Amino acid sequence: PKYQSVALIIGVTGIVGNSLAEILPLSDTPGGPWKVYGVARRPRPQWNADHPIEYIQCDISDPDETLTKLSGVVQDVTHLFYVTWANRSAEAENCEINGKMFKNVLDVVVANSPNLQHVSLQTGRKHYLGPFELFGKKAHDPPFSEDLPRLDCANFYYTLEDILFESVKQKEGLTWSVHRPGTIFGFSPYSMMNLIGALCVYATICKHEGVALKFPGSKEAWDGYSDCSDADLIAEQHIWAAVDPYAKNEAFNISNGDVFKWRQFWKVLCEQFEVENGGWGGERVSMVEMMKDKGSVWDEIVKEKGLAVTKFEDVAVWWFVDVILGNEGMLDSMNKSKEHGFLGFRNSKSSLVSWIDKMKGYKIVP
Ligand code: NDP
Repeated sequence: PKYQSVALIIGVTGIVGNSLAEILPLSDTPGGPWKVYGVARRPRPQWNADHPIEYIQCDISDPDETLTKLSGVVQDVTHLFYVTWANRSAEAENCEINGKMFKNVLDVVVANSPNLQHVSLQTGRKHYLGPFELFGKKAHDPPFSEDLPRLDCANFYYTLEDILFESVKQKEGLTWSVHRPGTIFGFSPYSMMNLIGALCVYATICKHEGVALKFPGSKEAWDGYSDCSDADLIAEQHIWAAVDPYAKNEAFNISNGDVFKWRQFWKVLCEQFEVENGGWGGERVSMVEMMKDKGSVWDEIVKEKGLAVTKFEDVAVWWFVDVILGNEGMLDSMNKSKEHGFLGFRNSKSSLVSWIDKMKGYKIVP
């Protein structure tokens, strides 16, 4: 056959979905040559259009639409990569909607893809931290390892895992893997959580207004150790788990393998945008508050600098900046992943700079 493996990426324009869509079709990608299908709700954006994949517009929260749009095309799918989610305010609702979405996809794929071999699910470090609504109240003692017991609270990551475990039982030989990144450094103007994207927009606005770039977070985040998970590295771990027998039926943390302090990376961010470093001002300030009237400023900048047209609320999700920079970094351990044979890593400073470059390259920021 022309292709050795066929991927279905759910959430193909997301922060990791876009990396998977770029990496899977490359000629030297393990398991390849890969044919790739990618699913998202909105029309295909220009920054995703270079990837040689088949784009399918489908809302997976709708079971009928999922069946209609996917059952016909997924006949040859061998690997499912699930890199999407829905964000509701209460965790009980998150469990319900996210469980439904995942199940809608699994039901169609398990029934209609006779060659399906592996399901790769992305969750995250909130597996150990607890949901956003309980941040800081339930967390395990870091660094987090994969064998820690589940926290005794609702968590949509647990719901997704349980659905996965039930679903793979329906097909002999079908394997799974779970991937748990921390804060992701990556590229996607459509992501529901993109820290670097939001910081690029923040830096651009400060520069436009001629003010220094102030760190809005907490002293713990400014001075303490943080880490991050590069989106391409996460994609590499997904692909490794899809093809390597030692990775089957296991959950893995995924982070870059080094640590940094925000006071160091803030300097890098300021340099990249040639804006004055305002440092940490001695107290937390809410980005949500600070940015609530800046939509028109953003539109002005987009026009003036000839940027790709974006919606302010798409390219900069401020609540996420408040959560990540407002809290102490909680580290994970990459031992299990390495012991199983995944030795991938990233230099986080290079990672930061390369994603900023990509934001500029696609003219999302000047
Ligand atoms: P993103 O928010 O970056 O991307 C979501 C993708 O899914 C987009 O392509 C979006 O496009 C698509 N999508 C959303 N809803 C639907 C739907 N109903 N039907 C079809 N497509 C849909 O995803 P992430 O990679 O951030 O999230 C995946 C997992 O990773 C989540 O569990 C998240 O909690 C976790 N995680 C994320 C981190 C981060 O920093 N981003 C950190 C740690 C964990 P469209 O809107 O057009 O449909």
